[in-house]
Amino acid sequence: MEEKGSKQWNFGANKALERSSKDGLREVLHILRSSLDPSESRPVIALGHGDPSSFPSFRIDEATENAVAKALLSAKFNSYSYTSGIPIARKAVAEYISRDLSYKVSPEEVHVVAGCKQGIEVLISVLARPGANILLPRPGFSAYGSRASFSQLEVRYFNLLPDKGWEVDLDAVKALADDKTAAMLIINPCNPCGNVLSRQHLRKIAETARELRIMVIADEVYERFVFGSEAFVSMAEYAEIAPVIKLGGLSKGWFLPGWRLGWIVTFDPHHILKQSGFVRSLNNYLNMTTDAVTFIQGAIPEILGKEDRFYMKLELIRECGEICYEEMKKIPCLNCPSKPQGSMFLMVRLKLWLLEDIRDDLDFCCKLAKEESLIILPGRAVGLKNWLRITFAVEVQSLRDAISRLKSFVHRHSLK
Ligand SMILES: *Cc1c(COP(=O)(O)O)cnc(C)c1O
Repeated sequence: MEEKGSKQWNFGANKALERSSKDGLREVLHILRSSLDPSESRPVIALGHGDPSSFPSFRIDEATENAVAKALLSAKFNSYSYTSGIPIARKAVAEYISRDLSYKVSPEEVHVVAGCKQGIEVLISVLARPGANILLPRPGFSAYGSRASFSQLEVRYFNLLPDKGWEVDLDAVKALADDKTAAMLIINPCNPCGNVLSRQHLRKIAETARELRIMVIADEVYERFVFGSEAFVSMAEYAEIAPVIKLGGLSKGWFLPGWRLGWIVTFDPHHILKQSGFVRSLNNYLNMTTDAVTFIQGAIPEILGKEDRFYMKLELIRECGEICYEEMKKIPCLNCPSKPQGSMFLMVRLKLWLLEDIRDDLDFCCKLAKEESLIILPGRAVGLKNWLRITFAVEVQSLRDAISRLKSFVHRHSLK
């Protein structure tokens, strides 16, 4: 009989999962956390990821928690969901989204998913026909790129323009697209840039998409986070020009990322998505994948239906954005091209030539974590090397402490 250990097992690492990860957001955060100095007595300040839900100032209203408790205790929501969500949840999302639009969305156009990230997985998977490609913004949210590369959907990156308020480089979009391009993505308000796109620019994006015969995916998960002079307008306002798919959810706007509830909404007034077969494929994919938790869906009408006290939290975020921007301007080796108007992030450029012993953005952030117990995301995790992305949605005092740690770090490492 052949000896057991002599033959290799028939499974192993999956190559498709090896290449997609290294600069991913979670991977980079892991590297930074392992750079922390365990003997440091100061608490870690984490400005690397965007999740203020654990801070007392951002705790959700009790009424929202009660809505879920009520849904759970009613025993009406213990069953499987339906594909695309239970009817009351789809209706509530449709009504919520229609409030700020110049027309009404129907519940059939709403697909409830387990967070916006599942929405990304679903859309990318459906778009990944052999040979197809997608246009993604740089900088951007890394989940799109990593999912696309796993699904073998070719990614082509267009730049956002820091000196034009992070607008889309539409000439680059036109140059990149061909007849295999299925979609372009915008994230508005923007993670990681903190800008909000103007009406005029959104219209130009729609016109470009129409010219190229592509759909626009609009990640609007930060639509409630708007605190500057530019009002938020949904891409859906321009669906007459080119089809739009909107992504949103509770994670950011309600500070509830752990509840895993998001939505995909199709805006297709000319039935282009429908006639192309895309909607059928979307439904087929949704039949195959998992659904959002039913009792969270059961609470959606109450969560979205009532006025919460979000504006108080928004005011706090605005204040933090202002402090962060003003303080960054005072640090010689950093350059912040524009004041944040939305989301909870800003991007700052690193002037490496003013620093003594710092190789690049990752080196900067690793040393910062080690020496100051401060975590800031290196720009590479959002596609822009030698920049930093700073999350400012934290308690004001933590933000002030973080800024003073950053200043002493920079002072120590500046060329003398
Ligand atoms: C956080 C985030 C998501 C993911 O949202 P979840 O609902 O937590 O899955 C998607 N897009 C952007 C731009 C985000 O910042």
